[in-house]
Amino acid sequence: MRITVCTRPFRPAGPRIEAEAFGDKRVVHNYGHGGSGWSLSWACAQEAAALAQPVQGHSIAVIGAGVIGLTTALRLAESGAAVTIYAKDLPHETRSARATGVWSPSSRIALSSKVADGFDDRWRGWARTSYLTHQRYIGTLGQPVDIIPFYSLRSHTPPPREWASHDFLHLGGRMNDIWFGSQTLPDEAHQFPVASARRGADMVFNIAAYTDRLIRDFLSLGGRIIRQSFNDRSEVLALPESVIMNCSGYGAKTLWGAEELVPVRGQINWMPPQPEARYGLYYEDVYVLSRGDGVVVQYTGPNEDYGYGIEDETPDREEMRRAVETVGSLFSEWRA
Ligand SMILES: Cc1cc2nc3c(=O)[nH]c(=O)nc-3n(C[C@H](O)[C@H](O)[C@H](O)COP(=O)(O)OP(=O)(O)OC[C@H]3O[C@@H](n4cnc5c(N)ncnc54)[C@H](O)[C@@H]3O)c2cc1C
Repeated sequence: MRITVCTRPFRPAGPRIEAEAFGDKRVVHNYGHGGSGWSLSWACAQEAAALAQPVQGHSIAVIGAGVIGLTTALRLAESGAAVTIYAKDLPHETRSARATGVWSPSSRIALSSKVADGFDDRWRGWARTSYLTHQRYIGTLGQPVDIIPFYSLRSHTPPPREWASHDFLHLGGRMNDIWFGSQTLPDEAHQFPVASARRGADMVFNIAAYTDRLIRDFLSLGGRIIRQSFNDRSEVLALPESVIMNCSGYGAKTLWGAEELVPVRGQINWMPPQPEARYGLYYEDVYVLSRGDGVVVQYTGPNEDYGYGIEDETPDREEMRRAVETVGSLFSEWRA
């Protein structure tokens, strides 16, 4: 159907969630979630909202309408504050709207050498809280969150393994209670033409429906969304609200001088929704996910270095061709 590209807002030290004073204004930052923004959104929103020290009826500005801005705004509105989101891109136009949409709480979250002491524990708290919060949306109207079967397939001729040159922090393996297990399938139990197959499950975010739901919940609490672009922080600080939440994602690099942010490019090739085939798979560095709003086909590269430092959001048709051919080969040799 289409190709979408976006940059993950990767921050080597991990997401920045902290408050700063500018004269009589309080700015709370919540940006830099790498490849885990959807997954960790709820807990990070809760932590940022607490730093805002919301008071019933007080006005708060949220800069950004991606998943981080929306969840932060919602948590603040729930506490009784009068919240306005200001954003250059409205929710369905943001980079968040172009995400794969899977539970991936430690994907490009930080570099081991750059995190502060105690980051692991902080991350554990975020992951647990968010994991449980997402699950409240399973089975609700529009199925914003779903659990689907997932197959990890090993080819007879797997691509060579290359280790990433950056020391990405991998935390998930230590938290079995927030992942779905998987088992190796006997050959006769599947039809994939592969050397081996494992079957597990994945928590999937149907991003279109989830975004709609967040917008509706926010507006129903009296929240407002205004399209507005800011050139620099002085324009943000000129807003009438005394508390400002900076949820500008990769935009924080220019808006707030967050030079430490690294763009990590990712491309998704979209096929029409296939409700009759609701599962995901990983095969030869290609990820496929059947979501309610389309089938994601994504070349992930040999490791997490893939796309690192690349800001270009122009679709790469060669990458699409490679991904689609790889998946095509799997199905053209389907065992009867
Ligand atoms: C290909 C790809 C796949 C991904 N898959 C997953 C996944 O499966 N699971 C997962 O958990 N995460 C995933 N991610 C990561 C996730 O998408 C990001 O971490 C998340 O979208 C970041 O959200 P955000 O709200 O901080 O930023 P954004 O979605 O970029 O939103 C930023 C907002 O700030 C506004 N803004 C910025 N600058 C300005 C300015 N100067 N003036 C006014 N407004 C401004 C923008 O207009 C926008 O509204 C993926 C990312 C990519 C690229």
